[in-house]
Amino acid sequence: MADIQKLVKSQKIFIKNGKTINLDFRLKQLSILEKAVIENETRIVSALKKDLGKSAYESIMTEVGFISDEIRLVRKHLKSWSKPHKVRTPLKLFFSMSRIYREPYGVCLILSPWNYPVQLTLSPLIGAIAAGNCAVIKPSEHSPATSQVLEDIFKDYFPLDYIAVVQGGIDLSTNLLKEKFDYIFFTGSPEVGKIVMTAASENLIPVTLELGGKSPCIVDYNVDIDLASKRIVSGKFLNAGQTCVAPDYLMVHKTVKNDLVSAMVIDLKNFYGNNPQKSPDYGRIINHRHFDRLTRFLETGNIIFGGITNRDDLYMAPTLIENLTWNDSIMREEIFGPILPIFEFEDLNEVIDQINDRPRPLALYFFSRNKKNKEKILNHISFGGGCINDTVLHVANPHLPFGGVGNSGIGNYHGKAGFETFSHRKSVLERPFCFDIPLRFPPYQGKLKILKAVFNLPFYR
Ligand code: NAD
Repeated sequence: MADIQKLVKSQKIFIKNGKTINLDFRLKQLSILEKAVIENETRIVSALKKDLGKSAYESIMTEVGFISDEIRLVRKHLKSWSKPHKVRTPLKLFFSMSRIYREPYGVCLILSPWNYPVQLTLSPLIGAIAAGNCAVIKPSEHSPATSQVLEDIFKDYFPLDYIAVVQGGIDLSTNLLKEKFDYIFFTGSPEVGKIVMTAASENLIPVTLELGGKSPCIVDYNVDIDLASKRIVSGKFLNAGQTCVAPDYLMVHKTVKNDLVSAMVIDLKNFYGNNPQKSPDYGRIINHRHFDRLTRFLETGNIIFGGITNRDDLYMAPTLIENLTWNDSIMREEIFGPILPIFEFEDLNEVIDQINDRPRPLALYFFSRNKKNKEKILNHISFGGGCINDTVLHVANPHLPFGGVGNSGIGNYHGKAGFETFSHRKSVLERPFCFDIPLRFPPYQGKLKILKAVFNLPFYR
């Protein structure tokens, strides 16, 4: 605890010296971060393999490559984003100039989960650095190999009073949350999100909460079945289904259900072979607690495909399951694993009602060639973000702010949105020392008529 206090204090001193506001300093730190990631690619990839059985390909695509891409984009635009932004000034404030200045919040706390332990730790950090903040990072205790690599790397590339990685579980998080950080960026479950927000409220600390939930995938009657199948299967079973924006469940139009299920079975075999346990491209469940939680989900419904498990290897086959109800536990909780429940529908309005009866999802995917139905979905369901005719890919566009809504989160980041999230917008009106109209100063007697004219209000007395 004393160490944490000391660390936060040292970062507060670092912020006070004003170094981080300098644009060149921020650009340099982003380059150092990119260098740190690239130079340690092999260590990162092998740690991800250890923690999650992630293939090198997936690790480059969703972690290392993702981060370098975002750093390059932010570096390219940081100068223009950082400039004071001029806005219009109403005539009644004549001779004034209005600008919005960006300033760093100060010392930020970043709490991250285990499923994409590099991306979900470093992507918020890019925003924090770009905006000129210091950061204390606490990666997840459930991905220990990656957390260790992150701590080791950061020690080599950044001074602790600027950016520090600290490792630990709930006790450490609880102690961190007692500190007076200037901003808290949390990625994890809605349950822990509430704990974080409650703790933050004690010191009125602003928060971003990147949470989870059940993200629906809806397939209309008029789609390209083969492409839809490939895009759903790849989005769902990436990282063995442990992706916050993975399709949680599938709702497919009755007329195409059988075709889609057959296509998905073929794709699953093509992607991961007849025995996915032997596939170098298929991941593992993070730990036994999650494995047991997921195994219990298999007790209800009918398994159409998969369902094979091996606890010693933390292996769960990609699984398609049907004949479920909203009351089954698999439909009451976020799945966060390689099980895809399948429902059929006839009326899209019913689908909309069923989704709207539940907490607002982090992501939603809609497959259709019907423009009207697409508009219907977009206009009638609130969700964090998503894709039309694909899954997961919206996350890969750094020009799209990423975040949830309602139960799936507060705030967003990625690219410019990340810079903005970690910047306070300081609005300043600047006036020259010229004359003032006496109208604004007391005594007010005899001035009301003119004041009402200025505001374009009727004058009755
Ligand atoms: P989690 O909420 O259990 O843990 C996240 C972080 O909070 C970890 O660093 C953990 O140490 C810390 N933590 C856990 N319990 C705590 C407590 N009682 N007090 C303070 N801190 C605590 O989440 P997880 O299991 O690591 O990740 C899974 C969840 O995260 C899923 O709900 C998933 O949808 C969500 N998620 C969301 C996103 C997103 O971008 N929106 C991304 C990945 C995961």
